[in-house]
Amino acid sequence: MPISSIRDLNLRGKKVLVRCDFNVPLAGGRITDTSRVDASLDTIRHILSQGGGAILCSHLGRPKERVPELSLKPVSEYLGQVLGEKVALAPDCIGDVTLRMSNSLPMGHALLLENLRFHREEEANDSDFAHELARGKDVYVNDAFGTAHRAHASTVGVTRFLSERAAGFLMMRELDALRMLTVNPEHPYVAILGGAKVSDKINVIKNLLTKVDAILVGGAMAYTFLKAQGIAVGKSRVEEDKLDVAHEILALAASKNVRLLLPVDHVFAEGPEAGTSAQTGTQIPDDKMGLDIGPQTTHQFIAELSGAKTVVWNGPLGFFEMPAFASGTMAVGAALAESGAKSVIGGGDTAAAVAGHDWAKRFTHISTGGGATLEYLEGLELPGVKALER
Ligand code: AMP
Repeated sequence: MPISSIRDLNLRGKKVLVRCDFNVPLAGGRITDTSRVDASLDTIRHILSQGGGAILCSHLGRPKERVPELSLKPVSEYLGQVLGEKVALAPDCIGDVTLRMSNSLPMGHALLLENLRFHREEEANDSDFAHELARGKDVYVNDAFGTAHRAHASTVGVTRFLSERAAGFLMMRELDALRMLTVNPEHPYVAILGGAKVSDKINVIKNLLTKVDAILVGGAMAYTFLKAQGIAVGKSRVEEDKLDVAHEILALAASKNVRLLLPVDHVFAEGPEAGTSAQTGTQIPDDKMGLDIGPQTTHQFIAELSGAKTVVWNGPLGFFEMPAFASGTMAVGAALAESGAKSVIGGGDTAAAVAGHDWAKRFTHISTGGGATLEYLEGLELPGVKALER
């Protein structure tokens, strides 16, 4: 069913409850990366310029009760700077004082509610709490793609009490990018998968096998596949209890004529800290662990990307946090960015790995939500998106 965009709504004179993802990293009470706040600015500015009152809410961290260090105060201060006017922080997200502040908010201005997760009822999707959140608001806008896979009071429950609702610009951008991957994607369509564990991505792989032409597997998860094929992987990270699933996936790929490429060479060392002793080769010695794809594999993966029209990438191809094991991820990332394919980078660690590189600007989309992207790629419905349907 269709979802309205914030652009479709008449916001003049309306109090708009906006669910944002302001779950920013903090150090010593300061925001160390503002990109999540920046990503919602289009939506906030649009509401203000249309003559609406923006009442912003978000979670921050995982508190189960009020924790002063997880106050959204740093976010209200940052919003004040970038919007060029003070954005007050309500003392709570519900309650009479907060309601008075939102009732008296002049149109064209913004108010930030305090951390939603100071109340357990938020994650419990409690109906009374959702009702309180909705009180005094006319419209609901969800721009928090990063929590769209969670049925919480502020993402799902609240929509029962606000019939006028829409996706914000960030949410629309995220959904458009994901639809490009699932609704008639252009072929050749290639998936690049890496990261720590096969177990996190089994259902993603199974679902992608029905859509893609090739899957390139790197990262630690490649070693479970290699071991399942009887290849020696030394001390590399292997999920012993997933060898059967790896087998099953390899057979499934073959039956569907999907090329599943595994590393043919590796960068290995005693461990992630042993970067200076890193070596490259096709065989991993018994006392070493594979920590990056090797140059031949990198070359093969890049060759597979040339000519691809659609590419989705989730999970780094090596232990990229250490420069000695980042080359595969960076070389494949740069080649993908320059390839001309429509490219979607699924949030989390992959977004962190490519962040700050000039070439990363050329990806079609870098998602802000790792978990939500993975659930979408598994073929699951995102409750926060479903709740927006008209
Ligand atoms: P994920 O959250 O599943 O995307 O996994 C990301 C993590 O996997 C990153 O912290 C990487 O350092 C780690 N990783 C990638 N390749 C390897 C590897 N070969 N061995 C150990 N850890 C790896």
